[in-house]
Amino acid sequence: MTVGGSAPATTARTSSGPDGPGTRTPFVFRLRCPNCRQGACISDADYVCDRCDFRVVVHDGIPSLAAPNELYENQCTNTLELPLIDRPCGPLKYLVYLDFLCNERHRRNRFFRHVVNRLPRRESVLDIGCGGGMKIWTRLGAVVGLSNSLTGLRQASLTYSGCVHADLHQGIPFPDESFDYIVACDVVGHFEESVRDLLLAEIHRCLKPGGRFIGVIETIGKLYDVNPELGSAYIDAGIKRAGHIGLEQSTRALQRLAEHDLVCDRLELLGPYPGSVEGFFTQYFEELPARTRLLGLAKLVARVVRHNRIAARLTDSVFGVINSAALWYLGVEWAEGIMVSCQRSTSDRTSQRVQCE
Ligand SMILES: [Zn+2]
Repeated sequence: MTVGGSAPATTARTSSGPDGPGTRTPFVFRLRCPNCRQGACISDADYVCDRCDFRVVVHDGIPSLAAPNELYENQCTNTLELPLIDRPCGPLKYLVYLDFLCNERHRRNRFFRHVVNRLPRRESVLDIGCGGGMKIWTRLGAVVGLSNSLTGLRQASLTYSGCVHADLHQGIPFPDESFDYIVACDVVGHFEESVRDLLLAEIHRCLKPGGRFIGVIETIGKLYDVNPELGSAYIDAGIKRAGHIGLEQSTRALQRLAEHDLVCDRLELLGPYPGSVEGFFTQYFEELPARTRLLGLAKLVARVVRHNRIAARLTDSVFGVINSAALWYLGVEWAEGIMVSCQRSTSDRTSQRVQCE
């Protein structure tokens, strides 16, 4: 551990370009001082506030504004690769393409790829709750990762231009209008209702006018209204344990985005089937008491496919097709998560607010 001043600056690091090493973009960022909150007063050259001399603690080149967090320190710390379809895939490419179209484990990748391929590359991206980072965001610009896990940030710093260890309960530690894009995957559902609004207001504040928010927001679907027993067992074992607090329905989550001037122009739904049988939900399923027939069946499937990769892959594809059909038929109120791409308006609401004060 080193203390700011003597620490190497993150400007020395460069980000992976669109497709890995070779096209690297240096990126300089300034932090908002957590002490005097006077705007862009801490540079990543020395991590000392040029107004109040506040010194940011630096761990392995990562400025740290947060206390250690036991729950999140080791959650999702791997870097997520580009989907196989975006890399050379050889003679099996049609099989890879079919798998990409059907397989439930690619549902998020399909959305991210669709969104990213239609957006221009700009200067800066902020990934909040970044875990170990996601390579696909480097196509949009130089990425700064923000997380309360130093383990994840050490990993993300191999891909991203810069990383900051911070607790989002204290806001986003960047000056107003710093980023062209802000992404937050599986973050909003980890905050209490009151803090959720603060977080969205912070995302709005840190986006440039006309900037874009891309997010995956965890929600709770009507399935658990219809089957409360399944709901309570699943929520206790599978959802709360990962840190999700008081999930709301998708319609409310969308309304909340609109209230914060984040206009959603691309929406996709996540279904009740949680991504992949090999995912971390599998172990939760196995621990659940088989109180209902549906849960008993889910546990049986999980047990069969857990140690068989081909069976797991096929199960994910079958469920991917069923999930898509169910979501199309049932609609947004049944979704267990929403994937959104939202534009911040080009009008400068932040400066209007400051002037009013
Ligand atoms: Zn300061």
